[in-house]
Amino acid sequence: MTAVASQQPPNLPDHNLLGLDYHRPWPRPKVRGWVIDYHTHLFAHRHQQQWLRVNQHFGIDAFITMTPLEEAVAVARDLPGRVQFIAMPQWVDPSPHWVDNWLRRVEAFYNLGSRIVKFHVSPQTMVMRNYSLEHPGVQKVMKESIDRGMILMSHVGDPDTWYNGKYAADVAKFGTREQHYKIWEDQLKATRGHTWIGAHLGGNPEDPPRLQYLLDTYPDLYLDLSATRWMVREVSARRDVMREFIIKNADRLLWGSDQVSGDTREFDFLASRMWCHRKLWETAYIGPSPVLDPDLDQDKQPMLRGLALPDEVIQKIYRDNTVRVLGKYGVYFNEPPIE
Ligand SMILES: [Zn+2]
Repeated sequence: MTAVASQQPPNLPDHNLLGLDYHRPWPRPKVRGWVIDYHTHLFAHRHQQQWLRVNQHFGIDAFITMTPLEEAVAVARDLPGRVQFIAMPQWVDPSPHWVDNWLRRVEAFYNLGSRIVKFHVSPQTMVMRNYSLEHPGVQKVMKESIDRGMILMSHVGDPDTWYNGKYAADVAKFGTREQHYKIWEDQLKATRGHTWIGAHLGGNPEDPPRLQYLLDTYPDLYLDLSATRWMVREVSARRDVMREFIIKNADRLLWGSDQVSGDTREFDFLASRMWCHRKLWETAYIGPSPVLDPDLDQDKQPMLRGLALPDEVIQKIYRDNTVRVLGKYGVYFNEPPIE
């Protein structure tokens, strides 16, 4: 008898719980000029072809990526004017010379045209690397970045689901959100006048009042809208408040996907992230997300509640702000003239 087996739900992957056909065509975003993905991780040159197919499918013309230096040269050669790099240290560098190594990488990325330096100081990264933004070595890299005229970018914070979970279980090790934002604010004060971009809505999409306070207090601060599952969960959870927040601060926000390439990440995986982002920011879709959120139980999966942002806001967050903010630091895209 196979009757029971045939009643089993089809085995759908975590990136396509709804059984969508991600190849169905999408209209381009309503943007004059190029759509630019501010926050991505194209990890290897060999992933580039698939990556570009997905970007083309969803109408994304250019991207800014945290590609390892060893892969960045080949990507830069293939995509002049369509790609820009964010300078990163080696992900794990156990060397006693990690600060000098990092400085050399900043220089190498600078020579590739990069004008952004990323400081990854999420709670678990700070534990792994045994530093914060206050570490003298990190301070040295920050000073060098400013002297070179490079934008500072950070990942401070993490989802509330983590602060209330694994971080709460060992506060002595990981610290608290308040401690982490105090450290960040001290650096924002110390670098006034210099552009700083806070990834993932400043690492705290759960707390729009905090984000408003940060934007109001630090006029050189911008926030990116990247991360798929995190944004789907937390932006949807406070849909109306977040829509108002984004409209109010439309000049201070840069859209990014946080797309991450990988050897086993095929078209559908990459497409699932773009599908969610475009539904979330551009449409009034209300329904289940096709991407599994591992932070929530199976029966508590989030609803995606689209913000249907006005066209002029989409124009700013998908293109204009990125062009303007990066342009101040001499980063340009080979975009055709806009009528
Ligand atoms: Zn990222």
